[in-house]
Amino acid sequence: AFLREGEEVKTPPRRPPDLSGRPLPEIPSDVWRQDIRGAQVYLETHRGCLGGCGFCQVPCFFGRRVRSRPPEEIEKEVKAFMERGVRRISFFGGTSTHYGRDGEGDFIDLLERVSKLLGPKNVSVPDLRVDEADREVLEALKRYTIGFLIFGIESGSTRMLRKMRKGITVEQIWEGVEKAREVGLEVGGAFIVGYPGETEEDYLETKEMVEELMLDEYTISLADPLPGTPLAEEVCRLPEEENPVFQKEEGKWGRLGLTVAEARALDLMLTASCARSRPILLTDGFYRRLVEEVKRQGEEVRANTRDLKRLLGFSGTVFREKSRRK
Ligand code: SF4
Repeated sequence: AFLREGEEVKTPPRRPPDLSGRPLPEIPSDVWRQDIRGAQVYLETHRGCLGGCGFCQVPCFFGRRVRSRPPEEIEKEVKAFMERGVRRISFFGGTSTHYGRDGEGDFIDLLERVSKLLGPKNVSVPDLRVDEADREVLEALKRYTIGFLIFGIESGSTRMLRKMRKGITVEQIWEGVEKAREVGLEVGGAFIVGYPGETEEDYLETKEMVEELMLDEYTISLADPLPGTPLAEEVCRLPEEENPVFQKEEGKWGRLGLTVAEARALDLMLTASCARSRPILLTDGFYRRLVEEVKRQGEEVRANTRDLKRLLGFSGTVFREKSRRK
């Protein structure tokens, strides 16, 4: 919307453009110096995601209709990066396996093409949904990539998976991990703690899952209300005293001055450092780094939450007053 001579003009929503025919990006000559989770470059293969996870910005920004880039154009871009010295590339674009769902390409064919250019040891496809892990895809990942993937698991609690709108079940998580292991892939898992409404029982189910899955790698984060997501909307309406990211921890981690969400993140990180294929030695220094990490995440999420509430005009108190007036 904008003003024209004092009059408000609203433009109707536009259909997002197709991604074919876009020019090569401006590639800095020192791009090869980058190192983001092991890759020098993240390559956008498509936009849009068929999933609708409540914490994720991909569907909000790019919609739930998949738009894939033609494979020839992706190959051309890979070659352009290689000319600038890039050797390690990761796929990026929401859930990687959705590439080609619009009929514009095929995920396994694309993997093969990029792998031929760079070699499988230099291609990674980090993020995958457990319900996308069919045998053919997993075997292709084993053949054409570094052989490691991260499943977006998020929670071991059925109730929280539903609340997060994740669209997967605990059984699918187990099946996905087992199938990936069967073809010889290493498996990491991404988890979220401190989601609004997460109870101690929900958290303990997640912890139990981590203890039993014994994955190769973990990413553990506090629920971060990214603008535009259903999570942000919910968090904006939630009084701080009911939000685990703000609630003071009263249990065993309380002496560290943590919030409930931070305490769960710390507890899960410590569990994950032991419950993994290659355990991490628990030293004082490692423990201190984890405490600093969860506090840093907590501060960041609280600041984001307060900014959102300020910008959107919500606050826990105002909301409760409005509710009482109804
Ligand atoms: S978390 Fe992954 S599967 Fe869920 S909406 Fe985002 S990109 Fe899609």
